[in-house]
Amino acid sequence: MTFDFTPEQIQLRKSIREFAEAEIAPHVMEWDEAQTFPLEVVKKLGKLGCMGAIFPEDLGGAGLGYIEYAIIIEELARVDGSVGIIVAAHTSLCSNHIYKMGTDEQRRRYIPQLASGEWIGCWSLTEPEAGSDAAGSRSKAVLENGHWTLNGAKTFTTNAHYADVCVAMAVTDRAAAQHGISAFIIEKGTPGFRPGKKENKLGMRASATGEVIFENCLLAPTQLLGKQNDGFVDSLKILDGGRISIAALAIGMAQGAYDAALKYSKQRKQFSRPISEFQAIQHKLVDMATELDAARLLNYRAAWMLDRGQRVTKESSMAKLFASEAAVRIANEAVQIYGGYGFIKDYPVEKFYRDVKLCTIGEGTSEIQRLVIARQLLKS
Ligand SMILES: Cc1cc2nc3c(=O)[nH]c(=O)nc-3n(C[C@H](O)[C@H](O)[C@H](O)COP(=O)(O)OP(=O)(O)OC[C@H]3O[C@@H](n4cnc5c(N)ncnc54)[C@H](O)[C@@H]3O)c2cc1C
Repeated sequence: MTFDFTPEQIQLRKSIREFAEAEIAPHVMEWDEAQTFPLEVVKKLGKLGCMGAIFPEDLGGAGLGYIEYAIIIEELARVDGSVGIIVAAHTSLCSNHIYKMGTDEQRRRYIPQLASGEWIGCWSLTEPEAGSDAAGSRSKAVLENGHWTLNGAKTFTTNAHYADVCVAMAVTDRAAAQHGISAFIIEKGTPGFRPGKKENKLGMRASATGEVIFENCLLAPTQLLGKQNDGFVDSLKILDGGRISIAALAIGMAQGAYDAALKYSKQRKQFSRPISEFQAIQHKLVDMATELDAARLLNYRAAWMLDRGQRVTKESSMAKLFASEAAVRIANEAVQIYGGYGFIKDYPVEKFYRDVKLCTIGEGTSEIQRLVIARQLLKS
């Protein structure tokens, strides 16, 4: 067992950190306030290989593994969680679903365009009445006269308004419940397919989250992704990897909040001493740093296992559960260390505090992670 990063992984972290600090940091608050989607940055990330990190080079990807992917998401989220979630939904949900379950033809058509950032992807599972119970989807697809007709509405889809490609789940055999849902690839411009309401959010405001609407949307049989009726079961497999990216997102934001709080605690003086000299503040920093390390170790273990082709349902859920809950605590303590200034938008920690909460909700709430982990524990 080794806990060392390779020289390439160290270099990758350095170059993504430099990119994030130069290209993202100066605009973070402006994008947050105006809810501006950072399209230009997404395109630059595509050129750097960050929009297709985990896909093979012959499909236009960077040929990296999940550890490197986690490093990329962490470093982007350390500066702006919104950029992190845009890349995460695009890569480990939409593109990876196509890569893992698609035909060779589908891979060749979509992965190079997605990996280069030329196209942006979104992944739609959640519906207004089917969140945690995603198998309760109502959107349906009917095969008639040689094509599928898709009707329904999805909600809370990340990248919905900027997506060139959408992977969406719809019921194809209602009686079969979760074994009667199929996945489809829908391209922008397909008649009957459009984004709907864009949500006004507490955090992650530069990422666009919203509805995806299908009204008599006609799809060729070639747009079915994976086997008919396997879409929900395949989605659960995709979420195993997706949860590593949400954990990385949480870790990145927690690191950003911790770094800011550590620096501030050495500069801010009260009672004629830097506040970092008070034991109460030191204990906060110690707990933050320890939880951050523990979250990283859990997540790199899951990433390491996934890179070796092992099943990570339990490990990625544990990483996501712990990292997201720890990150909420870390951001909370960062605000506390800043005192009143932590509540003010001129300082970075209030944004981490708002943004990080999403990590305990997206890709399965903490309650659902516990349910997933419990099922795995009780199996053994
Ligand atoms: C910013 C953002 C981005 C998102 N991006 C995407 C995306 O790209 N694609 C996508 O498909 N979805 C996306 N989602 C949706 C997200 O995955 C869901 O919000 C999440 O799964 C919870 O579903 P829900 O909101 O309907 O809550 P509900 O399922 O209604 O849950 C409400 C509460 O009840 C609890 N609960 C529910 N069932 C149980 C149970 N069995 N046991 C114990 N507690 C339970 C939940 O934990 C929660 O606390 C996004 C959401 C947000 C906010």
